[in-house]
Amino acid sequence: MSDLDRLGRPLRDLRISVTDRCNFRCTYCMPREVFGADFQFLPRAELLTFEEIARLARLFIDQGVEKIRLTGGEPLLRRDLERLIAALAPMPGLGDLTLTTNGSLLARKAGALADAGLRRITVSLDSLDDEVFGRLNDVDFPVSVVLDGIAAAERAGLAPVKINMVVRRGVNESSVLPMARHFRESGHILRFIEYMDVGHSNGWVLDDVVPAAEIVGMIDAEMPLEPVDPNYQGEVADRWRYRDGGGEIGLISSVTEPFCSTCTRARLTAEGELYTCLFGVSGHDLRAPLRAGATDEELAERIRAVWRVRADRYSELRSLATVRLPKVEMSHIGG
Ligand code: SAM
Ligand code: SF4
Ligand code: SF4
Repeated sequence: MSDLDRLGRPLRDLRISVTDRCNFRCTYCMPREVFGADFQFLPRAELLTFEEIARLARLFIDQGVEKIRLTGGEPLLRRDLERLIAALAPMPGLGDLTLTTNGSLLARKAGALADAGLRRITVSLDSLDDEVFGRLNDVDFPVSVVLDGIAAAERAGLAPVKINMVVRRGVNESSVLPMARHFRESGHILRFIEYMDVGHSNGWVLDDVVPAAEIVGMIDAEMPLEPVDPNYQGEVADRWRYRDGGGEIGLISSVTEPFCSTCTRARLTAEGELYTCLFGVSGHDLRAPLRAGATDEELAERIRAVWRVRADRYSELRSLATVRLPKVEMSHIGG
């Protein structure tokens, strides 16, 4: 069992980034001006191998992690990802294994992912309108291919699929109602995410955020909603359901209602750095000791030592002050 951090929070969730590369250039995450043709992504030798990831994952589970999410960059760009899933899925103590993807390669890969033992999946989709979506992903990627990916995930048994929509004022707020109508009664769970000031490259200002309460208001006016109790304490998304039984949505209000006090998440970057906050300034290198022959106990102690001194609560501080704190890019750390 893990120690508590300095604010009394246990370690329960681990997000593992399996690549820093992506085939999209979402303006809010990997803007083209920063992640252009000459951007240096990590060379292969610097990425943790699947064996290294699996070993660390087992140690994290020993420390109390119950849920693992694979992310990136775009995780489905990592070749043979099914091999990693097959290694993680049967690990005793792991209650939940899931993955967040932009959906671009999902139609082809959903079956293999499920066969390897993936249990759930989250697909990011910011609009049903090709023009709006193309402007956001900045590679003119069509909506229909992502929808095909969601359908393939459903057929493969990964339902209900969670659909993540980042809402940015003046960019895709007009897509909120069409998305809500589309996924109502689909059995999938649409989750609206407040646009966050992750990294330094997306030029975030508070005016860009559409508060979750406003999104609920917009949807409720057309399709009446009622709140639902959280599935468990510390659940990130606030749950709402359609009063007529049309299903459920989620709201992730990281900016207007920060949930740092119940944050039990650690993040492992593709090159093996441990971060204890999405807005962390620097990570703790686990790859160097791993490759220098550290024992399981030495690695476990390093993880415990990092967690014990954790005092991160960036989102709470952001709402208290307007200080510009330094931080890491989202595509590096994984969402
Ligand atoms: N490439 C995959 C994807 O897009 O689903 C996985 C990695 S992505 C960094 C994980 C999640 O973070 C996505 O749902 C994405 O929309 C979200 N995200 C990225 N930048 C964000 C920002 N500035 N604010 C809020 N969410 C963001
Ligand atoms: Fe790629 Fe996901 Fe970031 Fe978009 S949000 S650029 S798909 S990593
Ligand atoms: Fe957790 Fe950091 Fe986000 Fe707060 S800001 S919820 S501590 S990841």
